[in-house]
Amino acid sequence: MKLILLGAPGSGKGTQAAFICEKLSIPSISTGAILREAIKNGTQTGLKAKEYMDAGKLVPDDIILGIMEDRLAEPDCANGYILDGFPRTIPQAEALEKIASIDCALSIEVSDSEIEQRMTGRRVCKDCGKTFHITGNPPKKEGICDDCGGELIQRDDDNPETVRARLTVYHNETEPLKSFYEGRGKLRRVNGVGSVEDIRDSVFETLGI
Ligand code: AMP
Repeated sequence: MKLILLGAPGSGKGTQAAFICEKLSIPSISTGAILREAIKNGTQTGLKAKEYMDAGKLVPDDIILGIMEDRLAEPDCANGYILDGFPRTIPQAEALEKIASIDCALSIEVSDSEIEQRMTGRRVCKDCGKTFHITGNPPKKEGICDDCGGELIQRDDDNPETVRARLTVYHNETEPLKSFYEGRGKLRRVNGVGSVEDIRDSVFETLGI
């Protein structure tokens, strides 16, 4: 299955992607995680991307498309993948259509006020990138990743001001993708508010997996 996860920042795309990835044994590809890794490694791409990310803006399409063309050509993508955070603009979606035939775009629907509350509590593993929430999806041991034992930190772009900027960008640039995929008969929606497990169950049911 080739699946796109759509949703505002903090809507739970990464969390649900991990469930689907485990169930279907296909990779979950997060452009945000790839960019954060590039920043950590001090690469040229990372240096360019950081200024946009810290301001809550989108990284230019040409950088993102270069990354994704390479990533989707890797062998582990042969049986499908979950795209978490890509495409985020209409030009990215059009470029993706040229290299892949997507089965479904699943939109995780969460209101802005809920998003703003959630983001401040989000924590991410410094080493493996797994996400937690201090109240909604806490790690077994405070500050420590359940999976790899890495330290949990708050992302630089999860502060309230940047969150608001990212939500504006989401509504202006990414939300039009819902109509794009709806017009192609590929859009599915799930309610993204509730327990992580309940949302997982409705995601699985909607995808028929
Ligand atoms: P995320 O982890 O998906 O919330 O992404 C974090 C940040 O990375 C975003 O706020 C953007 O600055 C950048 N980013 C991630 N994916 C994309 C994309 N597909 N297009 C442009 N910028 C992106």
